[in-house]
Amino acid sequence: MSGVLIMAAAAVAGAAMIASPVSVHAVDAPACVVGYQVDQWSNGFVAQVKVTNNAAPVDGWTLTWTFAGDQHVTSGWSADLAQSGKVVTARNQAFNRGIATGASVQFGFQATFQGTNDTPTDFALNGVRCNDTSPPTTTTTTTTTTPQLPPPGCPSGGFCDGFENQTGTTPGGDWSLMFPNCQGTGTASVDSSTARSGTKSVRIDGRAGYCNHVFLAMSKGTSGSGLYTRFYVRHTTALPEQHVTFVAMKDTADGGKDLRMGGQNRALQWNRESDDATLPEQSPAGVAQSTPLAVNQWTCVEFGITGSELRTWVNGTEVAGLRADGVPTPDVDAQWLRRSGWRPALSNFRLGWESYGSGDDTLWFDDVVMAASRVGCS
Ligand code: CA
Repeated sequence: MSGVLIMAAAAVAGAAMIASPVSVHAVDAPACVVGYQVDQWSNGFVAQVKVTNNAAPVDGWTLTWTFAGDQHVTSGWSADLAQSGKVVTARNQAFNRGIATGASVQFGFQATFQGTNDTPTDFALNGVRCNDTSPPTTTTTTTTTTPQLPPPGCPSGGFCDGFENQTGTTPGGDWSLMFPNCQGTGTASVDSSTARSGTKSVRIDGRAGYCNHVFLAMSKGTSGSGLYTRFYVRHTTALPEQHVTFVAMKDTADGGKDLRMGGQNRALQWNRESDDATLPEQSPAGVAQSTPLAVNQWTCVEFGITGSELRTWVNGTEVAGLRADGVPTPDVDAQWLRRSGWRPALSNFRLGWESYGSGDDTLWFDDVVMAASRVGCS
C-alpha cells in the first residue's frame, strides 16, 4: 500500500470520528457536521452553532434548518440570520465566508421559544444535508468546542460578557485585577460552579478592611454619558450597615474620583468619592426609598447615566431612592444636588468589593452588558 493511500484512509477515519465518536464502522464522512449547543432559560435560549465542512472548500455558505417547535430567532452574531415560518437561513458574513476542507466556522443566535426546544435535525450546508452518516440525536451536542456565548439580551454594538470565554481561573481577556493603593486578602476568580448563564461567572471574595478590596477592571469599552449598564450579581451576605462598594467607575469630570455603587444601612446606594455624597440620603426615610439585595440568588441590576441624570433599576423595577434627575426629592438627593453641574464622564468600569467598615462578602457577577439604551433583565 502506498503512503498516499494510507494517508487517505487515516483522513476518512479521522473525519468519521468527528461525526460520531461511538461509531467504529462509518465509511463515508458526512459532507458537513453541525454542532448545536443550547443554553436556555424559560422561554428563551442562545445557541452556538459550529459548522464543519468535510467536502470541497466553500467560498460563501448558507446553513438552513427547520425548527420543530415554536422557536423564533431574535438576534445573531457571526452570521446573518433570517427566519420564515419554521425555516431558518444563516448566511456567512464577510469575514467567515470561506471554509476549507476539514475546517469549521461558528456562529450563534438568541431566540425565544414556547413549549419544547428540540435540536433541529435537518441542517443543510449549501443545500447538502449535514450529519448524514451520524446518529441524528447523539452527535449534535458532542462536537462543539468551548462556546463563547454573549449573555442573553446582548444588543448589536454593545459590550457583552458572560465570562464564557475565560480560559483560566484568573480573569483575563477584557478584564484585569486591580488593587488600588494597597493589596490584602481580596481575591477574584473565574468560577465554573456558579453561573447565571452558561457555565462560568466571576467570583469575588472581598473582606472587611479597605486594603482587602479587589476589583476586576474592564479594559475595553467605555462607560461615558448616555450609557446603560446591566449586570447580574449574587451576594452571599446581605448588604451591611457599614459602607461597601461593589461597582466603581472613574469619573474624569470629577477629578478622577470614583462613582461607586454599593450599600450602606443594608440598602443599595450610590456614593460619590470626591465629596462622599450618597444617594439616597442615609436617613431612615432616605434608606427606605432604596432596597436591600437578596442573597444566594441572582439579582438583575441596571443603571443609566444620561448627562447629569442617574437612574437605577433592580430586577426591572426602578428604585426611587437611586434616582438623581435634577429635581429635588425629599430624603433622596439633597447631598447629590449640592454639587451643581455634576455631569459624570466615566471610564474604567470595575466590579469587585471594597469595604470601608466591617463588611465581608463573597459575591458573583455574570452577564454584563453595556449599551446605548436600556437592556433589561433578559
Ligand atoms: Ca456566564
